[in-house]
Amino acid sequence: MTEPIPQAAALPRDALIISAATTGSWPTKAQNPNVPTTPGEIAGAAIRCGEAGAAIVHIHVRDDEERVTCDPERYAKVRDLVESAGSNVVINMSTGGGAGTSSDEERMAPLVLGPEIASFDCGSVNFGERVFINSPSFLRELAVRMKTYGVKPEIECFEPGHVWNALRLIDDGLLDAPFWFQFVLGVRGGSPPEVKQLQHLVDMLPPGAHWSVCGIGRAQLPLGLAAMAMGGHVRTGLEDNIWYRKGELAVSNAQLVDRVARIAGELGRPLATPDQVRALLGLRGAHTGKPAIIAAGPV
Ligand code: ZN
Repeated sequence: MTEPIPQAAALPRDALIISAATTGSWPTKAQNPNVPTTPGEIAGAAIRCGEAGAAIVHIHVRDDEERVTCDPERYAKVRDLVESAGSNVVINMSTGGGAGTSSDEERMAPLVLGPEIASFDCGSVNFGERVFINSPSFLRELAVRMKTYGVKPEIECFEPGHVWNALRLIDDGLLDAPFWFQFVLGVRGGSPPEVKQLQHLVDMLPPGAHWSVCGIGRAQLPLGLAAMAMGGHVRTGLEDNIWYRKGELAVSNAQLVDRVARIAGELGRPLATPDQVRALLGLRGAHTGKPAIIAAGPV
């Protein structure tokens, strides 16, 4: 079923898109008690991040023991809680699973919900002590399913080879413009979290691609600042970094969004609204009012 693309004022050229990655698959409450892990906590964090200026929230869900799960029912619960609270923040569901601990089919399961955006990890990479496998055949299948369900891929690249993979998938017609790239820098196994690495990744992009960066751990803020200075966009949140500053745990995801929003104000970059992001990326539109499981169909 084709959904109308929401009408919104065009995104100002200098606008900043903030993504908030609230939970991820690894951080635990033992590491930082403010990591949201239940559907209610994750939805609450998403709502508050939206209020703080995030246009997109990147969602993972956990089971009752805090372990990562790909259960579509849990994802649907989070989305329903966010939307029923009146938040129109764009929801980006992870297809990463536990980065090396979930099967390919499990990882693709949330796509039946037709999220506006879902992560598309564009190649394999060592991930700490694990190996995060995204085989060529999996990437092709993931791309096809995202098209089927009208989901915009967030093309996550951990190193330059992943951008090269994306370019091949684009050439093969499996990924369509407008492109939305997320550079993940600082994973042990991927690109180091350095500005020159970020510049190289940006230089590889196809014309007109939109991009954001998330730095892991202590690289989160400096790389975000670099991206802001370069005209890119920023991801923050407890998925990537549980600290506010050295020795001081972040008290919430919204605290981290607040800081980015504050700095963006100093730099004169207005914050993009969710509907501006929908218009920019051609998203299918908020889910509100549709059944939990959508019929497959192109955007
Ligand atoms: Zn994630």
